[in-house]
Amino acid sequence: MPFDYYRDPVHELARSVYRQLEQITKPPTHNDAASQRPPILDKHFPTIPSPEIFQFDVSKDQKPATGTQNCLPSVAEVAVHLELLEAIFSIRTLVLGVKKISKAHGFPHIQQSRGPEECLQEWAGYVDFAVIRFLAWRDNLPLLEKDGQLFLQELPPFDVLMVWHTFLLNTSLFRDHCGNEPLFHIKLPWRDIHKSLGNMCWQNSQDELSEAIFETATGVPAQLFQQFVARAITVGAESPSSETSSFLTPTGMSAPKSYEKLFERHATREDDLASLLRDAIHRQYDFVEKMHDKLWIRSPALSGTIRRAKDRYEKFLTLSRLHPKVMLVPMLDIDLVWHTHQCSAIHYIQDVTALTGQFLGHDDKLSAEALSNGLAETTRLFQIHFAEEYGHCGCWDCESVMEHVEQAMRNGTGGMDFDAIAQTAEAELVLFREAEVAASMRDK
Ligand SMILES: [Zn+2]
Repeated sequence: MPFDYYRDPVHELARSVYRQLEQITKPPTHNDAASQRPPILDKHFPTIPSPEIFQFDVSKDQKPATGTQNCLPSVAEVAVHLELLEAIFSIRTLVLGVKKISKAHGFPHIQQSRGPEECLQEWAGYVDFAVIRFLAWRDNLPLLEKDGQLFLQELPPFDVLMVWHTFLLNTSLFRDHCGNEPLFHIKLPWRDIHKSLGNMCWQNSQDELSEAIFETATGVPAQLFQQFVARAITVGAESPSSETSSFLTPTGMSAPKSYEKLFERHATREDDLASLLRDAIHRQYDFVEKMHDKLWIRSPALSGTIRRAKDRYEKFLTLSRLHPKVMLVPMLDIDLVWHTHQCSAIHYIQDVTALTGQFLGHDDKLSAEALSNGLAETTRLFQIHFAEEYGHCGCWDCESVMEHVEQAMRNGTGGMDFDAIAQTAEAELVLFREAEVAASMRDK
């Protein structure tokens, strides 16, 4: 008899745990034992992350590139950046599991199981296509002009967005290649990205109009992941499921003929832009994983974490003005805000030049030794100049306690009741952790 996933006792157990968690996280009734819990649990189960964080300043998006005020990222923008990084983590996980999905969707010819190495090949293939598709989109960038400013007509597909994001983070590369293009003046559209990412599973959804715009500009289908699931794109010369004829990419993927011209145009040499971007995406994944491990986007202290990170980033810029010759190394929280700032290339270059007196490039290829020396020096200077710890734990517990201490300080009611603060923080942490367990069960 074939293995029945849904009758498997482990999954039955998981579902019963999930049902119990659903009970815990339901809004309590008045005569419920839950009313005995600390106050935070008595509220309706919160939306995570809180919608209140995503308040965008529209006027700032349209700020002309010659303004005098700086364009440091807002709390909302940093939060969407975290959402985007989590979405990249999630699409990679999906691509690595694409064989299983194909099987479930009834594509019988790929039922043989494959090892982890072949799964990684699948991800490498996804990145190759994403890069080619980005370059094709950049060649025919669909733009709108409003009040003398250029805007994107619509968001590109998720994979293209991922490449654009990586390109922006390689500040010198982006400036050298796109400095004279409209793309250089366009900020990553945080508000639209937030709208297009689902709250829970970080899946990007595009509407028909934006798909049509992309397909007209590039000549290839908007949905890349679906092409992998449907086996229209496969690793090696294994026959693609589509009826149309196919060709092999330089890295040995079978793909529909519509891609052939794009690969001929953009990916013929080992040192071309396509391979630089591909390598940059693989390097950048390290940061995506670090942000996923911290999971600030789903922590109860998200807004405080971002507020403090912004403050520390400004101090970091001050240090780089005071010590232009020192190689300063950012902590993760500072790096996150720094990356967010870079996602608006023109503003980033103007701001850092004004604030630090130099073009602050971002080198993600430094050796471990150089990083460690730089970090020691940055820690020393930070403490001297600001009388603050530079080191940063960033775990949910530390961030949550700090958030409540800051709140108590803002309320300024004389002495501080640390026991009460610890209790409130703990109740909140329990609730948010329960939500995380519930979410991971739902994903299974
Ligand atoms: Zn900690």
